[in-house]
Amino acid sequence: SKFDDAGLHPVMRENIRLCRYVNPTPIQCYCIPAVLTGRDVVACAQTGSGKTAAYLIPILSKLMGKARMLAAPRPNPTRYNPVTDRVRAEPLVLVVCPTRELACQIFDECRRLCYRTMLRPCVIYGGAPTRGQREQLEMGCDILIATPGRLLDFMRNPGLLSFARLKFTVIDEADELFSGGWEETIESLFQGNGTNTNADADHMYLMFSATFPKLARRMARDYMDEDYVRIK
Ligand code: AMP
Repeated sequence: SKFDDAGLHPVMRENIRLCRYVNPTPIQCYCIPAVLTGRDVVACAQTGSGKTAAYLIPILSKLMGKARMLAAPRPNPTRYNPVTDRVRAEPLVLVVCPTRELACQIFDECRRLCYRTMLRPCVIYGGAPTRGQREQLEMGCDILIATPGRLLDFMRNPGLLSFARLKFTVIDEADELFSGGWEETIESLFQGNGTNTNADADHMYLMFSATFPKLARRMARDYMDEDYVRIK
């Protein structure tokens, strides 16, 4: 398939084949090479365009090359003691999106694209008890997919979640997050509040949105690398 020429990790190429994706969608054609070369991305994308895979494929492919070194500490699942074996979640990737439905769809796609790797995705969202989600995080988390309210709840619990190792921040459906009143939360994630992402020069930012309000353009200008790629 056309994915074979993109310079992706062999495990990623195999997982794409298992997903039965034969040809990249237009947004994937632009986004995958941009992320693989280390550029920040701002993309105009509707649901159904393949935008989720457009960011997950290159991000996970980059991590697969280093998974053994980077994967979060995690308990042995066969002898897991939930009291003594808990670990603090230190994700490498944070994806923030506005709704529970979208978070679960992203998680599903992420699980398929992480198949047979050491990378472990977790999803957290509001409107459901925190306990099960917390227990999932305590088993180790490399990719955290979150809605903003529940993310803030969990960030207030410092023993639970740390962004010290974060390498990628993805804001999905940014316009919906902004109109839902989460502007300050998104801005503080970009500023690295509660994280030390700004200290890390190779930290990458990606923002996806159906429309581009002024605020989204300003945040891209203020926080992303100057050579960020714009995809329409
Ligand atoms: P999204 O725009 O991310 O919500 O994706 C819409 C749907 O397209 C999802 O069900 C994906 O599994 C599917 N999809 C993503 N990329 C491809 C591709 N390259 N070929 C076929 N289907 C895809």
